[in-house]
Amino acid sequence: MPVQRNAIVTGSTSGIGLGVARVLARAGMNVTINGFGETGGIEAERSKIEKEFSVSCRYSAADMSKPDQIVAMVHDAEREFGSVDVLVNNAGVQFVSPVEDFPPEKWDQIIAIDLSSAFHAMRAVVPGMKHRKWGRIISTASTHSLVASPFKSAYVAAKHGIAGLTKAVALELATNRITVNCVSPGYVWTPLVEKQIPETMEARHLTREEVIEDVLLEAQPTKRFVTVDQVAALTLYLCSDAAESITGADIPIDGGWTAH
Ligand code: NAD
Repeated sequence: MPVQRNAIVTGSTSGIGLGVARVLARAGMNVTINGFGETGGIEAERSKIEKEFSVSCRYSAADMSKPDQIVAMVHDAEREFGSVDVLVNNAGVQFVSPVEDFPPEKWDQIIAIDLSSAFHAMRAVVPGMKHRKWGRIISTASTHSLVASPFKSAYVAAKHGIAGLTKAVALELATNRITVNCVSPGYVWTPLVEKQIPETMEARHLTREEVIEDVLLEAQPTKRFVTVDQVAALTLYLCSDAAESITGADIPIDGGWTAH
């Protein structure tokens, strides 16, 4: 009988997170999904995961900018599923603006959701993982954990922070059979990317087409967007036993962007 694994994927009502949650469920894991959105749509996705993959899927409305809600999400999942064996820190938001105009409240929000939430979630899951002597912690970082782009000061700072947090915690947990890694996608066509197009048009004085061709795909030598399924497959691989020697890594999946 294979061991039943239970996962939490933060920010999984949309985009990459939803793709990751579905792939983990397809592999037989019970999954807690999380994120914002319209109640009916979230419930439809939740019950579809259960029916399609014959696993249990629960929804947590925890706000990843609120440490107490993050801890409660982990404890509720542990109580209901018995454990959290896989944590995917995926929730993220973006804002594009020159630094001198960057609203301080947007800085605080991005640091809270894109960086600090991973710390609070790791802190809450690690005792259980250590006790069971097995765990996988994967953060959806970004190419922006490795290189910068202008006008994304908060996002680049948060994602570089995730890479550092990942290395530190990986070293701490290395002898516990718990691996801690980042996957770092280039541009993936999701609502997060679509939303930053008008902001980038304004910040750089470009048309929509120029933003897509000259800013987004310009960075990616393949000239194609990375897909949600590709990021989800890499995340699932990192959960496997075959990946037990990969820890503290920040793995680009970026169409060659960081080869520049
Ligand atoms: P998305 O906007 O489709 O999804 C973001 C998810 O996070 C949604 O489920 C949303 O409800 C949730 N979320 C936002 N704020 C939250 C909060 N306070 N609490 C709980 N959930 C919250 O975006 P995406 O493109 O799928 O991004 C997912 C992750 O991938 C992010 O961390 C992002 O930085 C990273 N990423 C995306 C790209 C890309 O090109 N799309 C590239 C590299 C990295």
